[in-house]
Amino acid sequence: MSLLAPHFKLEPASCYVDARCPRYKVVVPAEVDLAPLLPYLNAVAKVIYYDPGEPALVFKFEGLKVAVRRDNVQIGPVPDAEVGRRAKERVEEFLERVWARKENISPRYEPRSLPPPLEIYRRLPGTNCGRCGELTCMAFAVKLASLEAELSDCVPLYETPEFEEKRRELEALLA
Ligand code: SF4
Repeated sequence: MSLLAPHFKLEPASCYVDARCPRYKVVVPAEVDLAPLLPYLNAVAKVIYYDPGEPALVFKFEGLKVAVRRDNVQIGPVPDAEVGRRAKERVEEFLERVWARKENISPRYEPRSLPPPLEIYRRLPGTNCGRCGELTCMAFAVKLASLEAELSDCVPLYETPEFEEKRRELEALLA
């Protein structure tokens, strides 16, 4: 039996980081209760947020955010239905693969969330040098907080000895 229904709908998605980005999310009903899958996803996916009480889990997948709840999966942002359909297929394939391998995965039941951008920003060099591709350290912190950037993109953290302690703190914070 499939985890997800074959059909989906597009809904408007808010995008607070970049006003030019696509503004839809794919909403796919579940065919089964997805709650038992979440601890396994929590063990293997790039998890942004996991609340076992809700239960809900959000993870990063091929540049998309995927939110999994008991009765549906939401994927976004996507620009149109065709891109949404392909994203749905890839996410579904990933979820099915995790479920099929669950005997070999140690589930993680503890809640998870990434640190808020301000906590990250306080530990960045604060020079706004732009070498990470962002205009400011704060913009980079926002991207790090949603797994849209890698810490190693901030080159000064790695090549300037005076930032070594901050880098260690950030590595621990984002681990
Ligand atoms: S490379 Fe680092 S120091 Fe430079 S703007 Fe980006 S986050 Fe700030």
